[in-house]
Amino acid sequence: MRKQLIAGNWKMNGTIDETKTLLEGLLSGSFDSSKADMVVCPPFTALSYAGNLLKGSKIAVGAQDMSVHENGAYTAEISAGMLLTVGVSFVILGHSERRQYHAESNQMINAKAKVAIEAGLTPIICVGETLEDRESGNTETVIGQQIDGTLFEFSAELLNKSVIAYEPVWAIGTGKTATPEMAQDVHQFIRNRIAGIDKEAAEKIQILYGGSVKPDNAKSLLSQPDIDGALVGGAALKADDFLKIINSL
Ligand code: PEP
Repeated sequence: MRKQLIAGNWKMNGTIDETKTLLEGLLSGSFDSSKADMVVCPPFTALSYAGNLLKGSKIAVGAQDMSVHENGAYTAEISAGMLLTVGVSFVILGHSERRQYHAESNQMINAKAKVAIEAGLTPIICVGETLEDRESGNTETVIGQQIDGTLFEFSAELLNKSVIAYEPVWAIGTGKTATPEMAQDVHQFIRNRIAGIDKEAAEKIQILYGGSVKPDNAKSLLSQPDIDGALVGGAALKADDFLKIINSL
């Protein structure tokens, strides 16, 4: 039985004051950590604050990206090692907004994921098709290429230390959600594709769904057999909504 993981991607939201309010809201609520783990991914400037505030709590901290490099002349970049020093244990990699606005390729995401795992971080590796891909019947081709590319030369050991997030680009921040059946089909496809690398690891790996997950649709999505949690954007910015999502399990 795979444990569920509910991760909040705050994107470019969260001053220190806002981070304090949101995290205090989450800390004052409750959830059953035997059913699901909770991760919050604030922007880089709030990670240290979040790491300190959440130390010893049931809530883990994730970053939204990281550099593939260890250190050196890479202006504005943040390394895996730096993230570890502020209490980060997860990192989102290859979010569609990084792919779209920063030209992140499957190859780059693959390299970053290996660096993250080597450093001791758990990568949340994102894949997802555009509306055009879906409407032209290319969802499986595109997702297959993204899985093959981002997991290139992954061993079972690396898979066991990774999380996948399926986020249809057309459902992110749009209020449009994949139906539970549509999402389940792609999740099953992803798991089968990973089974081509290692069957046991494919059974164990958590595959999260992302794309307008809200308190009112969380239960039907999360009850699908191959959906092992959610990567939540907008609804992760309200403590009550995020708690309702994790408590819908
Ligand atoms: C996301 O950006 O990862 C996301 C799923 O956003 P939203 O929930 O707002 O669609």
